[in-house]
Amino acid sequence: MSDTGGLAAPPAVTYPTAYAPPAAPLAGTDLDPPLRALDRHCRELSEGMREAGAAVDRDPDAIAGLLHLPAVGFQAQGSLPPEYRDTVAHPAEPVQASASSLGWAVTAERLAYGDAGVLLACPGPSLSGLAVEALADDTQRAAYYERVTSAPTWTFFGLTEPRKGSAAMELETSLAPGDGDGELVLDGEKRYVGTAARAQTGVVFCRRAPGPWGIEAVLLDTAQPGFKAELLPMVGLRGARISHIRLTGLRVRPEQVLGRHRPPSRRGLYGALHVLYRGRPGIAGMALGVTQAVCDYTAAQRPAMPAAARSRLDGVLDRAAALRRLVHTVAGEIDRGVVDVPRIGAVKSRAAALAEETTLLAAELLGPASLIEHPWLEKAYRDVRAFEYMEGTGAVHRLSVFHGLVKGGLLGGGQAPAGTGQPYVPTAGVSAGAGARGAR
Ligand SMILES: Cc1cc2nc3c(=O)[nH]c(=O)nc-3n(C[C@H](O)[C@H](O)[C@H](O)COP(=O)(O)OP(=O)(O)OC[C@H]3O[C@@H](n4cnc5c(N)ncnc54)[C@H](O)[C@@H]3O)c2cc1C
Repeated sequence: MSDTGGLAAPPAVTYPTAYAPPAAPLAGTDLDPPLRALDRHCRELSEGMREAGAAVDRDPDAIAGLLHLPAVGFQAQGSLPPEYRDTVAHPAEPVQASASSLGWAVTAERLAYGDAGVLLACPGPSLSGLAVEALADDTQRAAYYERVTSAPTWTFFGLTEPRKGSAAMELETSLAPGDGDGELVLDGEKRYVGTAARAQTGVVFCRRAPGPWGIEAVLLDTAQPGFKAELLPMVGLRGARISHIRLTGLRVRPEQVLGRHRPPSRRGLYGALHVLYRGRPGIAGMALGVTQAVCDYTAAQRPAMPAAARSRLDGVLDRAAALRRLVHTVAGEIDRGVVDVPRIGAVKSRAAALAEETTLLAAELLGPASLIEHPWLEKAYRDVRAFEYMEGTGAVHRLSVFHGLVKGGLLGGGQAPAGTGQPYVPTAGVSAGAGARGAR
């Protein structure tokens, strides 16, 4: 299959060269000095990402020729433990600041202002790293990080399935006993998994036994016999390179089962949820980055806008500022061990919807032929529609918000139970199908 997944590649385009992301701090932010420095750093790094974005949109594998861009190397650094970071190429302070959920939301917004597709096409641990961090023992952890830092390495996080979507508790991919030596056998399918057809390693969620604690996460090498993945056609955000994985009699050694040293209640499903909730503020950050970029582009292209049009654009910017504050609030809560599933889902789905709405408004304000005359806007228009599906759809998050409202406390946030040292996850998010759904 060609890299376009059967679709014709978009035509070669040249974007306007003027690139002026707003100076820090962005409206709605109240960042401490290290995060403000990170914000400034990422603003500078995003230079050059527009052109890279056009190349990745035409051919997502073009990312392999863009690894020299500082943003490409930087985005992965915060997801590495300090001992594996590249301290020569990247200054330590912004890397450290980007390692938190809030730091990643700030980073994702600034880099997505440059280009969200490039950000998703980059090599690095991404969501699989969060699963490893949550579940792996010391040996698994060391082997994983040595692998992903020894050379540019693409990874994947395989949860969503053709028949069950991203309902983590319903997944069907099976992990069954093999012939002997404790070996296990993996069979099943995963669909819409970012980068899988180009990855060297990744995590697959599968079922070893009935019930929520029968779910396992296994770390695979894509060169293992029985692993096959092909790219799916994408209209927008093509850098994500979503793929269909087929797992056929793939032999899994016991040491590939993440968290084998943990009790079942702290293994597969725990890891999936840990990743899902933490990934959402980053997706919201990306959606806000593109929203801001589209507003700035529209204002720059139509400097003498009538007051009524300007006020509609300002209305979007006001809503983006309000959402940015909420994204930073939920990300900051996650960093403090408070995982309020309905609130996290609410800000992610509102940010995704605002990005879509903003591209529609920009297309209207720039005139009937705007999507032909403004290729960058046309690309943004296609790209933002993916945010709705990444990390769960709006309908699923609205259900989660409903559960949160019924249970109360949605607007107040939760508190980590004293002395547990564990993330606090309100039960609505774990027990309800709605809260447990969603992937990237
Ligand atoms: C760019 C991109 C990257 C992605 N990357 C990954 C990845 O790396 N790994 C991965 O595992 N997945 C990934 N996904 C998949 C993504 O997580 C799923 O597409 C998403 O969670 C929705 O799942 P689904 O498409 O199977 O739809 P389903 O979950 O099957 O839902 C289908 C429709 O039914 C609605 N629905 C579902 N359940 C309910 C309910 N209980 N009540 C009401 N309505 C409901 C949904 O809102 C939706 O409209 C990616 C998707 C995209 C677009």
